[in-house]
Amino acid sequence: MAAHAYDPHEIESRWQELWARERTWEVSNEGAEDALQAGAGDLGDESRAAERSYVLEMLPYPSGEPHIGHLKCYAVGDAIAHHQRRLGLRVLHPMGYDAFGLPAENHAIRTGVHPRESTAESIVSFQRQFRSWGISIDWSRELATDEPSYYRWTQWIFLELFAAGLAYRKEAAVKWCPKDQTVLANEQVTAEGRCERCGALVEARQLEQWFFRITDYAERLLSDLDQIDWPEHVKTMQRNWIGRSEGAEVTFRCEQLGVDYPVFTTRPDTLFGATFFVMAPEHPEVLRMAAGTEHEQAVQEYVNRALNETNEERGNAEKPKTGVPLGRTVTNPVNGEQIPVYVADYVLMEYGTGAIMAVPAHDERDYAFARAFGLEIRRVIAPPGDGAEGSAGEGEGPAEAGQAVGLPYTGDGVLVNSRPDFDGLRSREALSAIVEWLDREGKGHASVNYRLRDWLVSRQRYWGTPIPIVYCPQCGTVPVPADQLPVELPDISDYTPKGRPPLAAAEDWVATTCPTCGGSARRETDTMDTFVDSSWYFLRYCDPRNERAAWDHEALAEWMPVDQYIGGVEHAILHLMYARFFCKALADLGHLGFQEPFEALFTQGMVTKDGAKMSKSKGNVVSPASIVERMGADTARCYILFVGPPEQDADWSDAGVEGVHRFLGRLWRLAAETAETAGPPAGAAAEGLNPGSPAEEALLRKSHWAIEKVGSDLRRFAFNTAIAAVMELLNECSREREQVGAQMLRFALATAASLLFPFAPHVSADIYEKLTGRRVWEEPWPRADANLLETDVYELVCQVNGKLRDRVQASADASAEELKELCRSAANVRVHLDGKEIVKEIVVPGKLVNLVVR
Ligand SMILES: [Zn+2]
Ligand SMILES: [Zn+2]
Repeated sequence: MAAHAYDPHEIESRWQELWARERTWEVSNEGAEDALQAGAGDLGDESRAAERSYVLEMLPYPSGEPHIGHLKCYAVGDAIAHHQRRLGLRVLHPMGYDAFGLPAENHAIRTGVHPRESTAESIVSFQRQFRSWGISIDWSRELATDEPSYYRWTQWIFLELFAAGLAYRKEAAVKWCPKDQTVLANEQVTAEGRCERCGALVEARQLEQWFFRITDYAERLLSDLDQIDWPEHVKTMQRNWIGRSEGAEVTFRCEQLGVDYPVFTTRPDTLFGATFFVMAPEHPEVLRMAAGTEHEQAVQEYVNRALNETNEERGNAEKPKTGVPLGRTVTNPVNGEQIPVYVADYVLMEYGTGAIMAVPAHDERDYAFARAFGLEIRRVIAPPGDGAEGSAGEGEGPAEAGQAVGLPYTGDGVLVNSRPDFDGLRSREALSAIVEWLDREGKGHASVNYRLRDWLVSRQRYWGTPIPIVYCPQCGTVPVPADQLPVELPDISDYTPKGRPPLAAAEDWVATTCPTCGGSARRETDTMDTFVDSSWYFLRYCDPRNERAAWDHEALAEWMPVDQYIGGVEHAILHLMYARFFCKALADLGHLGFQEPFEALFTQGMVTKDGAKMSKSKGNVVSPASIVERMGADTARCYILFVGPPEQDADWSDAGVEGVHRFLGRLWRLAAETAETAGPPAGAAAEGLNPGSPAEEALLRKSHWAIEKVGSDLRRFAFNTAIAAVMELLNECSREREQVGAQMLRFALATAASLLFPFAPHVSADIYEKLTGRRVWEEPWPRADANLLETDVYELVCQVNGKLRDRVQASADASAEELKELCRSAANVRVHLDGKEIVKEIVVPGKLVNLVVR
């Protein structure tokens, strides 16, 4: 017999060429074409009948070469896409590149290479590797977000949001990365107050910035989470980020200035204990309030200092409380008391209105502040069941405040020291009673607060989508008319930020004429956050070459929403929140017919090495290119899915990769030998196949068991156990190869290849063709024969030295060897075998196994 050697490189390049030549994975927009031909009349239902499915992995950011995380993400997505195609669906599975962004620009600053060049180079590397992995991509829809034909429509969306009042400009204290010299969104600042990209400590600055009004959508972003099939932990992260809390907005008035200051509180039941008032250093009113008082200078200095602290420092409960009085008072609306106003850095502008009523007896940080500044601490809530309730009498002086009675007390309880008609009420009752009273008096109302802030989209950087706005001395802020888009990004030679956007240096580009009055005007020099680019790319894939519009409604109706989205959990609150906001806003503007972009989401886990995240500095990086080079793409893809449940983190093991490589080699060699002995390919081989012996029946049953198992595992993304089932089927084939006829062996091996195809497409296509003469991707997904899935089982009695030790399920057709193995591995038998030698094994088929040990 000819020697058969598994040569993944020969096999893989041969199939990749065929798929590329025949454009196997391209799909047309049938619905749109039908619409064009509407009226032709005789288009049968059949042409429209095919159900569609949109399978999408998050688009990669092209920097350097793809890493192992990309391999995992696209191996997962491709398995789903292949499975769905063979279930009879028309599958859209496109690819593109999130091509704008800081790393290319920082590279340009270091090397002088234009970001467009380094990005294009990286895209070529991604394309080459994705092709070498054999990912089934519809390349006809490929796009990159830095192409003018793409960002023209990103700009159009910006203008649509602007026209609807959902894009606006205002001066704001912003997070500023001193190293990258750019503004960061809150989401790009780590919990430690550092830049997500470079790790520098983030500072605060006051700048005119563009924002998207995502807060208008807070409630819908929250409630619509119930409609989508996403992992619960991702929904929880979004809920926490939106941070909805119920309470009341209460107005404190500064009589001297005649200005009302609203605050949000979740505890209006503690209003009678508010003994001072605090504003965040970023609060736009702080300097105005202090103006003309003796504290003006001190306040100015305090604010400057505070703006350069990190939120982490400011929020730290352990940190000694600092602050400065503003020299003003406001009126507590429930009792008319004048309470002093402070500016203090423990109050954050991100929370509520950026000002708080301080209730030191019932809040940890207010308590610490009151102690530090000698302010009154007035207990107004008694713990439930506290004998002191109602009798706590007068407020306590600042000196001996609290400690004796366990202050601050932050739980619910019973109102004391408040007002006769509220005292004695429980917190929850008092809360509604007080809010109702405030509402009647016009001093407050029930309110909901969100932690979510508007999305800051301005970036003082070069490599991004230009904001299509012109500033005219006569007309003010003027949108560039849609028919003049794109506003193209000009070439510049110096990318280094110098405290102003690099685009400001492109004088010829900045100087323009006003679209409204024709006078001279200047262009906006900020560019957009790259998260804007990636908030709508999945829409463009549906109609990527449209030059008249961002998309055609018919095309979107055919494919959207995405049926299965796949990506890393690190995008739970950034990209995934912004994309949802875009869809809702665009739907409200009449551009989309759906509210949620991603029906179902799968988040794959990380691939680690030696238990640690892969990084160049640790020297533990496994490059997909080198694995593919050594062992082929099928091995790399199959291993990355086999190593563990794909939603979990998994540790890379070289021995594991080699094990998978050997498995593929064994399968391919046995199939090649079987193809030779079984004669010419016999079609799909399943029909009319009657087992001629118990061994043949067992192999037939095993094949159907694998069909059932892999199908159900695929539906729940359990790719690792699906691949293990194919391994088990191969083992059965190897074991029984001499006992079964060539046709039965051919059927079992063709089944193995068919089931393995979503994970290892090249070798599976090769084996399937050898054995059947057919193309596996054109075959329907196999169906298990229910009759062959039933096997009779009985309870096998397991004895050790004649004593009953366990009972296990055994198959009626199990061999004596299998029965012995079942008995030896039964849990309670193993306990009694420990350290002993088996001298005899007595098998009574259909009944028991007795192990004689000494
Ligand atoms: Zn930075
Ligand atoms: Zn003008």
